[in-house]
Amino acid sequence: MKNKSVALYAGSFDPFTYGHQDIVARALTIFDQIIILVAKSPRKTAFLSLESRIDGLKTIYAKNKNVQIFSWDGLVVDYAKKNNIKHIIRGLRPTGDFDNEFQMASMNRDLNKNIDTVFLAAGPDYFHLSSSLVREIFYHGGNIAKYVPDHFIQLMRKIK
Ligand code: ADP
Repeated sequence: MKNKSVALYAGSFDPFTYGHQDIVARALTIFDQIIILVAKSPRKTAFLSLESRIDGLKTIYAKNKNVQIFSWDGLVVDYAKKNNIKHIIRGLRPTGDFDNEFQMASMNRDLNKNIDTVFLAAGPDYFHLSSSLVREIFYHGGNIAKYVPDHFIQLMRKIK
């Protein structure tokens, strides 16, 4: 039997949105297994703790054996190398992601020639959706039910 194909989907997921969920679902039509790698984000101050983001994702994907959740406090390429993973998934929104994402994919490939980034175009329903905007709406008391799975809303309410 052929080995399972695995891809990494790394990010802060602070919070995890329906835009992220759409990317995971579509990546699963290309790869057998997706590892969601939750970054500690040394450059950003997290809103939700690493533990609650991991917890929330484990709850959302509890019934899906093809999605695994781990955290990592280093370079994504190093995690990929250590676990013999050759593909990184990224979502691309038409709202300014391209330059950053292109640079990151090129740098990752420079750091490790065996790794390629696979871009999935954001679905039209999610063009405008970002974790930072969701945090802002939530902070000002707006309704985020359309953007964030219920379990993550509950986690956010706990710290507000
Ligand atoms: P960051 O790496 O900036 O912390 P996130 O954790 O928000 O980014 O997202 C991880 C990945 O998901 C990135 O590739 C990002 O472009 C993608 N992404 C975020 N929001 C959406 C969305 N609404 N639709 C599609 N892809 C998205």
